[in-house]
Parts: sequence; structure tokens; C-alpha cells
Amino acid sequence: MTDETKTYPTDALIDGAWIGADRTFAVTDPATGDEIAKVPDLGAAETTKAIDAAYKALPEWSAKTAKQRGQILKKWFDLVTAQTESLARLMTLEQGKPLTESRGEVAYGASFIEWFSEEGKRAYGRTIPTTVEGKRYVTIKQPIGVCAAITPWNFPIAMITRKVAPALAAGCTMVVKPSEETPLSALAIAELALEAGVPAGVFNVVTSTDAPSVGKVLCEDSRVRKLTFTGSTAVGKTLYRQCADTVKKLTLELGGNAPLVVFDDADLDKAVAGTLASKYRNAGQTCVCANRILVQSGIYDRFADALLEAIQSYGVGSGLEEGTVIGPLINKDAVKKVESLVADAVEQGASISSGGKGEGDGELFYRPAVMRDATTDMRITSEEIFGPVAALVRFEAESEAIDLANDTPFGLAAYVFSENLSRAWRVAEKLEAGMVGVNEGIFSNEAAPFGGIKESGLGREGASEGLDEYMETKFICLGGI
Ligand code: ADP
Repeated sequence: MTDETKTYPTDALIDGAWIGADRTFAVTDPATGDEIAKVPDLGAAETTKAIDAAYKALPEWSAKTAKQRGQILKKWFDLVTAQTESLARLMTLEQGKPLTESRGEVAYGASFIEWFSEEGKRAYGRTIPTTVEGKRYVTIKQPIGVCAAITPWNFPIAMITRKVAPALAAGCTMVVKPSEETPLSALAIAELALEAGVPAGVFNVVTSTDAPSVGKVLCEDSRVRKLTFTGSTAVGKTLYRQCADTVKKLTLELGGNAPLVVFDDADLDKAVAGTLASKYRNAGQTCVCANRILVQSGIYDRFADALLEAIQSYGVGSGLEEGTVIGPLINKDAVKKVESLVADAVEQGASISSGGKGEGDGELFYRPAVMRDATTDMRITSEEIFGPVAALVRFEAESEAIDLANDTPFGLAAYVFSENLSRAWRVAEKLEAGMVGVNEGIFSNEAAPFGGIKESGLGREGASEGLDEYMETKFICLGGI
């Protein structure tokens, strides 16, 4: 039964026990600045203890059958789903996104648990036709071992379940370091995992403001065989380097600079709806948010006008208030970054609709805006905006759009809007991105592989690929047959 008032732990979770600490840090509501809770500010020593626990729990957990692990995961899925309301409220409180989006994220996050509770049973090896008489070849899949996850604040539940569920389904154990902005959602789903029967030590959560120290231990401890990270490219590169000495397997979901291309032959309504969904969800704070909106000149004005009209009705406020579409940004740095990117673009000739700071708005609010006449040499089109500003760039020819879209070191998401199937397919193939939405602004789901190319990362999450990331392939050669 859903219980809106259910409360969750505020201590860290190591070896099945809730651990407090003398040193704590405050978690605040970005809409009001009010403190919600204090959580333990752990460091290197506690991180090592969490790895000890995960290492100790590994033999028993990995020896269970995939079906047994799947049953526990399924129970976890049921508990998370039943607690949608309490989890969504907690998420909105510490992260700021509107309650409807939080409910959506609980469902999205839970979908990975359900998917991998089933997919774990399908970790098939292969039989390979022999090349030599008297020998037979097979491969089996085995869990990689102790894993570590470092996760961001923009999807406080889904970025954890997308990693923990496949790891646990594969037979691995996990140490998670959630973002210091949103540790409460992480602790809440960890509690539900314990309730579902995940044994002590299999899933540990280390809360900390000292991410570099915790991260260093996770990267350098040779017992951790895999690191999975979602966050900025700069931090991802540091972690990549730190993992070199122990040659860890890595999944990196890093930053993007998603192009969204609208051709003259697009359906205007679909293009506007897709852009709104991609750009303004979570107040523009997702790594797949359209960052450069490339619009062909024949549809440019109509598209810009329609986009602007649509955002006029967006409610801006606390995510807990009815009617809010745009909640607060996560912190002061985020607001400063958006303001500085907009100021830079305007100085170079772009124009911005009303938006930004409104009368009486709290410190972290930024009203949605549309920017016309952006160009691809501006900072706003080369850095991740992570805010509700749509920067529109004009182009003339298809080839120009592809060149502009690919002119970036990143390659996470891309979007194409065109009713011409040949063009949509041709362009989707040419875009350098791990994921392409065609006439669609939201594509992520548990059954499809999520991930980037170029400096947007390594590996895939979700789908059968997402399970494989937590397994090794062992080749067994039978001789003397
Ligand atoms: P964002 O800009 O989205 O906050 P970050 O890359 O800064 O992205 O943060 C993502 C996660 O990485 C958070 O959990 C954060 O605490 C963690 N993190 C930040 N710096 C480091 C670091 N040097 N080593 C390990 N983890 C880090």
C-alpha cells in the first residue's frame, strides 16, 4: 500500500546497518533553501568498510541462482512501486523537480529493477563450433565482482537503479556514492532493497561531501572490479585515469551537447512538442536535453513563435505546488552558469525572450526562455546549459545541419524532426550520437540501450547490454574429446 507519510533513513548503509557519524551535512530543499535532514559525511575509512562488506557478501550473493536473485529484485520493484508517492515527495523535496516528474522518475527507476529481475535469467553463454578436432568451445557469463557507482543529482533514483539492478541481477555487489545534493532518495530505495530481502553488504550507500576522497578509494581498491559513473565529463575523465592502475572495467555516462534538428518538412506540432519535452523537462537539467536547436530557415520563425507561446503557460515554482512545470535549479552555481551563458550569447548578438529571474522568485528559480539567433560558436551552444533556455540556431541545407550537429567532442543524444522518412533515416544514421530520437523528444526506457559515444562516455545502461556491463565472458575449452 502506498503510504505518503512513510519516512526513510537519514543514515548511511554499510553491511546492512544504518551508520551515523559525528560529522554530518545538511540536505536542503532547493525551492526554499530549508534544511530537510542531516546525513553522515563519511570519508575514505568508511568507504573501505563498505568495500569490505561488499567483498564479504559477494560469494554468497553470486552463488545464488539468477532466478533467486530475480525474485528478490522483483520484490524490490514491487515495494518501490507501492511507495511511489512517498518516494516522489522525498525526491521533489531534495531535488526540486515537479511532483509529476518525480512520480514519473519513480516509475522509470523501478522499471530497471523489474527489467533486470527478468533479464538476469538470460545471461547466456555460447557454444562455438570447434576449429580443431578433439576440442569443444563454450563461453559462460560470470559476475564481475564488487562494483562501485557514483551518481548525480538530476535523477536521484533512476541513476541508481539503472546501475544497481543489473549489477545485483548479474550476481555482483555494490557500493554507491550518491550525489551530496540528493542522498535521501538513495537511502530510501536502499531501505526498500533491504526490506525486499537484499542481504547485508550486497548494496551499500556511502554519503559524503568529500567526493574526491571517496572516489579515490573506490577507484584504487583492487577488490572493486568495476566502476560505473554518471556525471560531468571532467569528473569522468578523472575517474577513468584513477581506475587505470587497477584496470577496472568502466561505464561512463558523461555530458552531452545534444543537437535537435528541425527541418522545413517537419510537422510543426510534433517538433514543438518534442522540443518542449526534451528541453524543459527537469528544468533543462538532463544530460540528454536538447542543447543546440538547429532549425531550417523555412520553419524557423514559426517554430520559434510556437515554442515561445507554449512556455508562456508553464507554471514556475516549488515542485510540490500543483501546476508547477519548472521547478528550481539545483544550486546557485547552476543558476550562475545559465545566466553567464545567456549573457555571453546576448553580448554576441543573440536575443532572448522574457524569462530568467521573475518578480519575487526564490534564489534558485530561472523562468523558461527561448533564445533566437544563437550561433554555434557561442558558449551557450558548446557547453551544457542545464537550464530551461532553448537556444535556436538557423541553418539552410541538410549537409550543413549534419556538420553543425557533429561539430562537438560529445555524442550522447540527438534529435531529428522531419516527415520525410528518407531524410529522417539518413540524418539519424549520420548523427554522431549514441541515441537518436526521430520525431520524438523522450526515448529513454529500460528495454533500450542508453549511452554515448566520443567524450560522452563508455558502455550502455538498460537493455541486455546493461546486464553485460556487469559480467565477464569466460571461455572454456574442453580438450581430449
Ligand atoms: P554534476 O555537475 O552533474 O553535479 P559531477 O560530475 O560534479 O556532476 O557529479 C556527479 C557525481 O560525481 C556526484 O556524486 C559527485 O559527488 C561526484 N564527484 C564529483 N567530483 C568527484 C571526484 N573528484 N571523484 C569522485 N566523484 C566525484
